[in-house]
Amino acid sequence: MRDFSYVRADSIEAARKAAALPGAMLLAGGTTLVDLAKCGVAQPETVVDITHLKGLDTISVDATHATLGALAKMSHVADHAGIKSHFPAVSEALWQAASAQLRNMATVGGNLMQRTRCPYFRDPSNFSACNKREPGSGCSAIGGVTRGHAVLGTSRACIAMYPGDLATALVAFDATVHLGQRVLKVDDFFLQPGDTPEREHDIRAGEMITAIEIPGSAAARRSTYLKVRDRQSYEFAAASAAVGLELETDGRTIRDLRVALGGVATKPWRARAVEEALKGKVLDEDAVRKASGLAMEGAVDHGANHYKIELAPRVVARAILKLGETA
Ligand code: FAD
Ligand code: SF4
Repeated sequence: MRDFSYVRADSIEAARKAAALPGAMLLAGGTTLVDLAKCGVAQPETVVDITHLKGLDTISVDATHATLGALAKMSHVADHAGIKSHFPAVSEALWQAASAQLRNMATVGGNLMQRTRCPYFRDPSNFSACNKREPGSGCSAIGGVTRGHAVLGTSRACIAMYPGDLATALVAFDATVHLGQRVLKVDDFFLQPGDTPEREHDIRAGEMITAIEIPGSAAARRSTYLKVRDRQSYEFAAASAAVGLELETDGRTIRDLRVALGGVATKPWRARAVEEALKGKVLDEDAVRKASGLAMEGAVDHGANHYKIELAPRVVARAILKLGETA
């Protein structure tokens, strides 16, 4: 880790101003930033500590929407009674993320901004080729070990998977991210790699996440987050699905369906083809399994990650069917 300057911001304005300095990085819970600095991926010239900013850790929820301050801890949001009843998929996504210690330390703003777990990206001393770290240097993963890499949204420049759980649930329910002057859909905030994998978010110099807003809906109230991984805790998703369901008054016909995928794409991935195929249809296992296959439209594997193309539709189907069984 190399030397850097430290600034403790005492207002959002001061934080934004300091964040606009070249080489400046915000410090929230520090659970990602410190790791990345230790392995040499992050080389901040100035670390802007925002942990003491007042009013950014509030959580407010009613039936119409939830507002999460950027500094709200993952564990507090996961355990919030309003989030559990109006947005269960958000609570479940957070409960299944990381470990208890990390959730107590880490913030929801920092969670959205976490970087890929691609092992080549995180090992600059052994792998110099990484377009995300060093634009134009190549990609060590293509032709390498790809078990954890993305099958959706990839490019010739980068196949890294976005690993966060919370953002997957947010994308399913049309959440927005507040950046000060600008408010963006979370879906638009995350960028596909294309030719510029080093640009992961639509965030500009001097901007910071101040809050996340989630609109309430019947589908958000009847929702779940299903995460399949190599072990039951402290592990990133092999494939996950955030699903919300609203049925007509007959209790069988699908009025609204939300599906987003995690663990399989370069950004949190809304599976609109699955939603459209099932809306207006009777909730039936065969129809659900058939439609869930559409989640993988356009998927491209790189050998060892082929299993994700088979796994993800099963995760989607299981989540929809599980919701169908709940009252
Ligand atoms: P920090 O480390 O402080 O910051 C992370 C990044 O976000 C930095 O680049 C920082 O500059 C930027 N940043 C922070 N706040 C803001 C803001 N308000 N506006 C703009 N930029 C900001 N996550 C999952 O979702 N699922 C998992 O299963 C999971 N498992 C994990 C396992 C391990 C072993 C570890 C170490 C992490 C795991 N994580 C997982 C990631 C973890 O959730 C993140 O490290 C954490 O959420 C980051 O939050 P933080 O507040 O500590 O961010
Ligand atoms: Fe770097 Fe992306 Fe290739 Fe991983 S997949 S080595 S992050 S360019």
